[in-house]
Amino acid sequence: MESGTKDDSIEKFRGFHIDDDGDDEVQEIIVDEDDDEDDEDDDEDEQQPVTLGFLEEKEYDWSLLRQSFPSKAGGVPAWLDPVNLPSGRSSACDICGEPLQFVLQVYAPISEKESAFHRTLFVFMCQSMTCLLRDQHEQWKRYPEKASRSVKVFCCQLPHLNPFYPSAPPRYDGTDKPSGTGAKLCNWCGTWKGDKVCSSCRKVHYCSQKHQVTDWRLAHRIDCQRLSLSSQSSDSCSSNGGTTSSEIQKVASNTLWPEYEIRNVDESEYDTEMMEDNGHASSLITSNRVDDTMNSLLQKFEGDSDKKSWASFQQRIVKAPEQVVRYCRDAGAKPLWPMSSGRPSQADIPKCRYCNGAMIFEFQILPQLLYYFNVKNDADSLDWATIVVYTCESSCEASVAYKEEFAWVQLYSPSASVP
Ligand SMILES: [Zn+2]
Ligand SMILES: [Zn+2]
Ligand SMILES: [Zn+2]
Ligand SMILES: [Zn+2]
Repeated sequence: MESGTKDDSIEKFRGFHIDDDGDDEVQEIIVDEDDDEDDEDDDEDEQQPVTLGFLEEKEYDWSLLRQSFPSKAGGVPAWLDPVNLPSGRSSACDICGEPLQFVLQVYAPISEKESAFHRTLFVFMCQSMTCLLRDQHEQWKRYPEKASRSVKVFCCQLPHLNPFYPSAPPRYDGTDKPSGTGAKLCNWCGTWKGDKVCSSCRKVHYCSQKHQVTDWRLAHRIDCQRLSLSSQSSDSCSSNGGTTSSEIQKVASNTLWPEYEIRNVDESEYDTEMMEDNGHASSLITSNRVDDTMNSLLQKFEGDSDKKSWASFQQRIVKAPEQVVRYCRDAGAKPLWPMSSGRPSQADIPKCRYCNGAMIFEFQILPQLLYYFNVKNDADSLDWATIVVYTCESSCEASVAYKEEFAWVQLYSPSASVP
């Protein structure tokens, strides 16, 4: 039965909530950084409707495939446009040159814009804390200086009719299929386009020499011979390589972050429930553990304004301490800053590099994600207070399939010295 109206079908795409009533009062986005008065408390009173993202184990194998238009964290990206992936310098850390690791993706279509009928934002970062510390200095650079980033965000949008997906909404029952095959992906990271091929078996592809060498050392040296032999009897590559229907990518790397589905809940639902003991049935870490961590972090802050900011941050987060994403694309929406230091001013947010228009806050990632990713608490382990994603206000159409948007990373100690 595919007789649903257009509105029905749009609702069946389970994206992050996009509120398009345009009459929200417009607030200034940036608070004067030297202002020590009670502005943070005032901000709390004018709450924008925020959609929270929580991590859950995926329900089915197909839940996180691209034809399900997932929001997900860890593992490999479910590329929306599976062919024209970011490549070259875009896919690597500008500081150390390593291919970037997939953090998460958020499916956030803009219903009133036909060219963004499907729209997914992808966040990647270098796993090196050394790079992230250097990235801190880079993110303050202003045009025309070229920043070298270790955190990158891409936006991909597709119209309703496109070569990659049927126009009918997904049934979410395991029978959904994409319309075409995707690009060959790297055998090691499963993340980036595999432009390079193993010269011996010519069966497996890699995004970079780095990943080819790593795979050879750890696994492919043995597989390679077997693959070369099997190709003589039948071309297993063509029966196996263009996996249209399942497309479950086998990934050799064991250093990807664990994979989760992101489930959305409106923050307002927690306003009434917050007094009850309502841990999610499926929550993966306990609230107590998050609370303890939050409290211990408070000791780190020296400045009063940071302490105050942290307190109001925590007050808002504690309603649903396992949230990892806060999403709100409304006009005037602001991120919830854990600290008052290390926030960008309006001038620090660049213009859209494609249309030169303004970029606005769209969502932020909270440090709880690091616990789900089992990132250790060592001195050189990856750590951040929040990652804030800004995107083109008009979600402009560009000639590239993946537009690069802007990420601002706030660390707990922005003054940390660069090694
Ligand atoms: Zn790096
Ligand atoms: Zn790779
Ligand atoms: Zn090989
Ligand atoms: Zn733009």
